[in-house]
Amino acid sequence: MAIILPNILSLLQHIGALRKEPESYRPKSCPGCRHATVWCHGCYTRKADESNTLNPVPIPRFYCPECDSTCSVLPECIPPRSWYLWKVRQIVFLLLLAGNSVGRTVAESGVRRQTVQRWWRRFQDCYSDYSFHLRNHFPWLGRQTEFTEFWAKCLASMPLSTAMRLLHEEGRSVP
Ligand SMILES: [Zn+2]
Repeated sequence: MAIILPNILSLLQHIGALRKEPESYRPKSCPGCRHATVWCHGCYTRKADESNTLNPVPIPRFYCPECDSTCSVLPECIPPRSWYLWKVRQIVFLLLLAGNSVGRTVAESGVRRQTVQRWWRRFQDCYSDYSFHLRNHFPWLGRQTEFTEFWAKCLASMPLSTAMRLLHEEGRSVP
């Protein structure tokens, strides 16, 4: 199980925060059973930096003695299941939303074609689910907005990582 820590928007910020205030990563309670004390349980490492200068990136883990489970705490900038940071996906998403072709988006972003296509499909397939939950948080996103207008409005006000963190907290599976 992964918890996402808000407002850590870059790997440098994550590495600095983990060194200076590691306690800020400790969950207030176990995400599984809500037990109030979880123990530090080391770190695992993720390959998360495409320039490779900051890899391997440590991700702290915690153990709950009550339900015998572990959880990891990711900084907001790292998606739970992909090594491309949200900021890379945001670039891809904004290029596509602006009407660029997949080919052009691949050339501009350097991300593989299949990956770009997979993300784009996923965002389209999940639109009604994602937009429903995000509108509950932010009514100003409007009930009548269609896909492109909705996401353009949303991403003008917050990074993609924040929108995805909120969806993750609601139990939605994020791409
Ligand atoms: Zn527990």
